[in-house]
Amino acid sequence: MAGSGPRVGVLALQGDVREHLAVLGSLGADARAIRRPAELAEVDGLVIPGGESSVIDKLSRLFGMAEPLRERIAEGMPVYGTCAGLIMLADAVVDGIAGQQSLGGLDVVVRRNAFGNQNDSFETDIAIPELGEPSVHAVFIRAPVVESVGERATVLAALDDGRIVAVEQGNLMGTSFHPEVTGEHRFHERFLDRVRARR
Ligand code: GLN
Repeated sequence: MAGSGPRVGVLALQGDVREHLAVLGSLGADARAIRRPAELAEVDGLVIPGGESSVIDKLSRLFGMAEPLRERIAEGMPVYGTCAGLIMLADAVVDGIAGQQSLGGLDVVVRRNAFGNQNDSFETDIAIPELGEPSVHAVFIRAPVVESVGERATVLAALDDGRIVAVEQGNLMGTSFHPEVTGEHRFHERFLDRVRARR
């Protein structure tokens, strides 16, 4: 259901678009699927969903979306990327397919499919001080990790072993995991707060 709150988009080239639209709508946002530059121009914030980053990359170039997206990111539009969306926001990607590009914006290096075959999907609870109590129940599905964080980005969450799984930088935020499938709304709220603050 579209709300009357901030007008935000979910990049709808591939991936779990519907889940993000549902969360954003439940938080009162006017949320819509975005495929074309003209649609992107109408929103004040964007979620890039999980899915397959190499496909989202190819389709974003095919649909003429890659450059408009880079421009909006550079202008400071709030963007939240989950999983493949985090990969799209990373300045550098390790273990991409041949020729894979990201949009960039987050001063981080991200490794695709970083948990290997044995551990490619799992769930765990992560304490994230910035979000308060309770801790976040995080679902990882063939997830990336943030291998290194540059000066401009900050770590929002790490696993017990130290692997970084959520980062922020200005109006950009990325998580390796999928809050949109667990009823966890604090990341989307944080994103919407940024959209409201900018309007
Ligand atoms: N492994 C996927 C990729 O490389 C990401 C998986 C996900 O978004 N759940 O894009």
